[in-house]
Amino acid sequence: MSDLLKMTAAQALSSLSKKQISSVELTTAYIEAMEATHELNNYVTSTTELAKQMALDADKARADGNAGRLAGLPIGVKDLFCTKNVMTTACSSILNGFVPTYESTVTSRLWESGGVMLGKLNCDEFAMGSSNETSVFGPAINPWSARDGEALSAGGSSGGSASAVAAGAALMSVGTDTGGSIRQPAAFCGVVGLKPTYGRCSRWGVVAFASSLDQAGPFTRDVEDSALIFSVMAGHDAKDSTSASMSVPDFSEAINSGVEGMRIGIPGEYQMDEMDNEISDLWRQGRKWLEQAGATMVDISLPHTKYALACYYIIAPAEASSNLARYDGVRYGNRIEAETLDLMYEATRASGFGEEVQRRILIGTYALSAGYYDAYYLKAQQVRRLIKQDFDTAFSDVDAILTPTTPSAAFSLGKPVTDPITMYLNDVFTVPANLAGLPGISVPAGLSKQGLPLGLQVLAAPFREDRLFSVARTIELQAQFSLAPARAAGELQ
Ligand code: GLN
Repeated sequence: MSDLLKMTAAQALSSLSKKQISSVELTTAYIEAMEATHELNNYVTSTTELAKQMALDADKARADGNAGRLAGLPIGVKDLFCTKNVMTTACSSILNGFVPTYESTVTSRLWESGGVMLGKLNCDEFAMGSSNETSVFGPAINPWSARDGEALSAGGSSGGSASAVAAGAALMSVGTDTGGSIRQPAAFCGVVGLKPTYGRCSRWGVVAFASSLDQAGPFTRDVEDSALIFSVMAGHDAKDSTSASMSVPDFSEAINSGVEGMRIGIPGEYQMDEMDNEISDLWRQGRKWLEQAGATMVDISLPHTKYALACYYIIAPAEASSNLARYDGVRYGNRIEAETLDLMYEATRASGFGEEVQRRILIGTYALSAGYYDAYYLKAQQVRRLIKQDFDTAFSDVDAILTPTTPSAAFSLGKPVTDPITMYLNDVFTVPANLAGLPGISVPAGLSKQGLPLGLQVLAAPFREDRLFSVARTIELQAQFSLAPARAAGELQ
């Protein structure tokens, strides 16, 4: 077999259009890689027969001269997107056996552009978590784990989406990010993860966690591929009232424009005590790279950052408790029969939701209850406004902001999950962008002393994903990061 798995999406498209490879060949290579990396527990449902058919259709469309922008590219989908006739569980037992009769807007755009669906990817239950350990299917494993060593977390909640791309079991994938669930696993697995501006990608057909924070976005091997798939996923959708009616620009120029003349902010508040030294070193290195490429680095202040986690962990559970009320044993998935309706609700929800989801429902219901609404929910909304104002002020002076993506490299599975607060701290650098609705990208920038990937995060003003791509591409060129995980599919090693 050739080096099919090593190609980026842009390279694969070029080979497909020159007829050097077919989508059937490419898809077959990925299906074999999915089997070879089975132990990583990335896929919770594989749709290989459908993939073969979609690949045939893509080859035919290309031969007929009407290939879409992603024609023939194999893509994995987080099991949070509803996919027509394909089981969608949000990795929760309460949705076991739920087969949607409709397709989410984001995934239908992928398939309309000729993308090939490989299957549904593992994630934390209802996207709540930072390690993929709350999934009813068990955790996705990070392909950077040593073959004979401890299994490392792929991150969460979109752990399967990040791990599959890093392991060569998907060329690209899609996930969702409510507080960091794309950027954190991307950093842990050494791939590029983009959380677009709130409103860029339709939330229609995506299982809701916290509606004012959720955004869909892609995982890719490089920044060019991120722009490619993002431009297909994004755009106005009348079915989502929070979808922005902004046109989606062509990002090809942004990818190559560099950072000459840009002003890039370094927020002092992100230098935190909990952060490993090697993360501070990488951040410093990132600043140097951007300076060498012609950007001016500017010290900025985001004074309300310290309240972001507390604010998020009120707002996200509050919205979740309301969104999850619909899983009542009547309309979707599982039901546990009982003598009365109330007892049936109780039994269904007590057995169907895992511990973390139940914790969030309890916190959220409490924060929204009549006696506490003003003290918690309303207060959190006010703090959210202050966090947003900090960013507005910063972006009146700088074009982008550079921070680390996570306070550490990937951790071992099984350890921190016993302590929810430690787990919540993982989101310290990613959550502010969700609260403020900003776009953010994580780009692999180096390795830890233990040889694990580390990511840098770039943030920009709303709808300025073009700037994310310019800065992230500059970092990518300087970092020369090479994707070499120990437990990847054969060709990638
Ligand atoms: N880790 C965060 C949480 O548990 C973020 C999850 C997400 O972005 N979906 O809420």
